[in-house]
Amino acid sequence: MYNPKSSKAEEFISHKEVLETLAYAEKNKNNAALIDGILKKARQLKGLTHKEAAVLLDCELEEKNKEIYALAEQIKKDFYGNRIVLFAPLYLSNYCVNGCVYCPYHMKNKHITRKKMTQEEIRREVIALQDMGHKRLAIETGEDPVNNPIEYVLESIKTIYDIKHKNGAIRRVNVNIAATTVENYKKLKEAGIGTYILFQETYHKESYEKLHPTGPKHDYAYHTEAMDRAMQGGIDDVGIGVLFGLELYRYEFAALLMHAEHLEAVFGVGPHTISVPRIRPADDIDPGAFDNGINDDIFAKLVACIRVSVPYTGMIVSTRESKECRERVLHLGISQISGGSKTSVGGYYEPEEEDENSSQFDVSDRRTLDEVVKWLMEMDYIPSFCTACYREGRTGDRFMSLCKSGQILNCCHPNALMTLKEYLEDYACPETKRTGEELIEREIRKIPNEKVLGIVKRNLANIGEGSRDFRF
Ligand code: SF4
Ligand code: SF4
Repeated sequence: MYNPKSSKAEEFISHKEVLETLAYAEKNKNNAALIDGILKKARQLKGLTHKEAAVLLDCELEEKNKEIYALAEQIKKDFYGNRIVLFAPLYLSNYCVNGCVYCPYHMKNKHITRKKMTQEEIRREVIALQDMGHKRLAIETGEDPVNNPIEYVLESIKTIYDIKHKNGAIRRVNVNIAATTVENYKKLKEAGIGTYILFQETYHKESYEKLHPTGPKHDYAYHTEAMDRAMQGGIDDVGIGVLFGLELYRYEFAALLMHAEHLEAVFGVGPHTISVPRIRPADDIDPGAFDNGINDDIFAKLVACIRVSVPYTGMIVSTRESKECRERVLHLGISQISGGSKTSVGGYYEPEEEDENSSQFDVSDRRTLDEVVKWLMEMDYIPSFCTACYREGRTGDRFMSLCKSGQILNCCHPNALMTLKEYLEDYACPETKRTGEELIEREIRKIPNEKVLGIVKRNLANIGEGSRDFRF
């Protein structure tokens, strides 16, 4: 029985409800009057139910699809402006006891190089990331209670936050580790993590069990209910996502939104971010073996439909996607991207020796962070290294109220400009710096509040003089 308030995975992601949703969407995909009504609701920024959103995803009417894309763009502009937050993944260890058939870290893969970084290696790696200009990391490990226990993750977080090197600092550590207990989530919260990220991979239980034949991750309910435990442990920023390509995208899309509705219904706050990874080649992994792959058009439609359905949720796309594809989806709703990423353990410190054989997936976008920053600015986006909300305690519903209050131009926008200025001063090449200075000059005029504008101008001048870390 479908019940968004239930604590049981099979009730809040009810298979029957997903199937009924898909049948409803199929029946109504050309129902112009219904689609008009759904778009009207979406324009009021109240979000959509999974059923309404599924109709938009299936819609085949060209005119209505144009409206969906235009609305996604508008919502993106209204809530996120032209800012794009940048982050980098940091792989601590690729030891893993699970058997996920789509991931090269699966336990039976004997020809992959297994690595676990020591704290000293983490220091080297983080300094390399700081020297690129990163302020926000997402740490990743395989699941292995012996090699990667929670104590190792906690110690690594402390190491990362403690590193002070030149003007660098990692100001927000997001964590992407296996589903765990409420006790461990409490420990992560105490360690000062930003978002806890866990991808569902697929919400389809039968497929999930086949794709995860062995290891603790085989337990569908334990994995699917992880975000509930994370929230019970006090983590109120959680990031969800599926790995598109494993199951039918329509199924995943409806279930993903049901998951968001469940968190909202039980905890009063939906997911902080939604990620949209697609399956990529890797050692021992051939994406062709998964026959639910989605093309770039469907991918763009998914991004647009998620944007109009959950307007206050950040959306992330990684370097799994090519420059061209990222360019296409940025204006449809993506608010965060990774840049200059290495997906192997230890790949930042020794890039020329990077052992591709320890990578989790092949990176499509191989540009440096500086190239990504410049590329964004040339498209009139503001690359942002802002971490202010987390550091000001604006997480969970307090973050959502900032989003909903429309204070973005007086808060996020100045924070983006000030953190970009830090980047330009400390890490940019001369050409990027010139492009960035011009962008700041143009963008600063958009700050509506005179008092805020005065403070920002003063702070920018101070950053030029060597001061750091201003924020609203
Ligand atoms: S997806 Fe995660 S849990 Fe599965 S094999 Fe890879 S690292 Fe391990
Ligand atoms: S102020 Fe908060 S919401 Fe705005 S960009 Fe910074 S961290 Fe994000």
